[in-house]
Amino acid sequence: MAKRDYYDVLGVPRNASSDEVKSAYRKLARQYHPDVNKENPKAAEEKFKELSEAYEVLVDPEKRTRYDQMGFGGVTQDFGPSGFTWQNFTHAGDLEDLLGANDFFQQLFQAGFSEGIFGRPTGRRSTVPGRGSDVEISVRLPMSAAVTGAEPTIEIPTTQRCPDCKGTGARAGTSVEKCPECDGRGQIRRTQSRGFSQLISILECPMCHGTGQRIRDPCPTCEGAGTVRKVRKLQVTVPPGIENGAVLRLARMGIPSDHGGPAGDLFVQVLLEPMPRIHREGQDAFTELHIPLATALFGGQVKVGTITGQALLTIPSGTQPETRFRLRAEGFPRLRAVERGDLIVTVHVDLPDPLNDRQTELLREALGASPPREPAARRGGLFNRRG
Ligand SMILES: [Zn+2]
Ligand SMILES: [Zn+2]
Repeated sequence: MAKRDYYDVLGVPRNASSDEVKSAYRKLARQYHPDVNKENPKAAEEKFKELSEAYEVLVDPEKRTRYDQMGFGGVTQDFGPSGFTWQNFTHAGDLEDLLGANDFFQQLFQAGFSEGIFGRPTGRRSTVPGRGSDVEISVRLPMSAAVTGAEPTIEIPTTQRCPDCKGTGARAGTSVEKCPECDGRGQIRRTQSRGFSQLISILECPMCHGTGQRIRDPCPTCEGAGTVRKVRKLQVTVPPGIENGAVLRLARMGIPSDHGGPAGDLFVQVLLEPMPRIHREGQDAFTELHIPLATALFGGQVKVGTITGQALLTIPSGTQPETRFRLRAEGFPRLRAVERGDLIVTVHVDLPDPLNDRQTELLREALGASPPREPAARRGGLFNRRG
């Protein structure tokens, strides 16, 4: 396959801004989603790799200049002997941010992309130094979210630098003093004499708790802590087909790093509220339905509660109790698939209760049951009969 010009690959003009390059890449990355390219994942990967190579060069001003001046020859030294591989992709971070808020990133892994774009499987914690902490949070959704998908907004508790004191902990306009107890060192030395030897212990200063500072007038907003609690809201895309207890990983959506490293990851566990009427087994759903005797005998249409609402079920005449009916595609979808399982309905036949005399007579006759031996037996009740 002839190598295509990077600008053509991303479909941007030669004077495109960095933002234009980014948004073109985002758009195309979504287009080559494995979901849409199920028939040929290998071709989708090739396409995605071509896009990523172009992005790798055009988003980097230095590489882009070399490419503009010398063409492909200007950037060959950036890649391996056989050209661009995922190992050369240094913008995985951008991609994670770009795609972190939906399931694309997850699906990329699960689709089995051969080289592994980000070099680590989902669910495993990365060990980048200085990286922010991971956050685990759970979200409760109705069972119907397994069919329709959902976009719940989750709230992540975080701490932020206090905006009023800029993190000093002192009331705005007042200053922070050196702790008089430890003279700003944060530590206290204790020297004990033991005969001819000395024991020196170094302790955290009890007055400033090791900060070395004294705040005379604490900031009223944060009460001297320098940080305030904040709730961060984030909309999460839960794909259709999600199983109860599944964990979505949103890369770099966790706690920001204090040391300039990448943010931690956010793990969202999806808990599906059980539906009392519906039982799930893989993609199929099971339910039970009571129908009147008349419907079982003569047929009719009845409403069945489904995962997302109601459906009409046609009962043929002469339906036996405990018959199972299959409502096609009323079950659960598989993750990353369009087709759905079935809803299997077991019908129970309810006898009319109580039967009146006329119904009893008619049924006896119709079903060929023998008449009661003595009418008194029926009036007196079956077990009250004497002798
Ligand atoms: Zn404050
Ligand atoms: Zn101190």
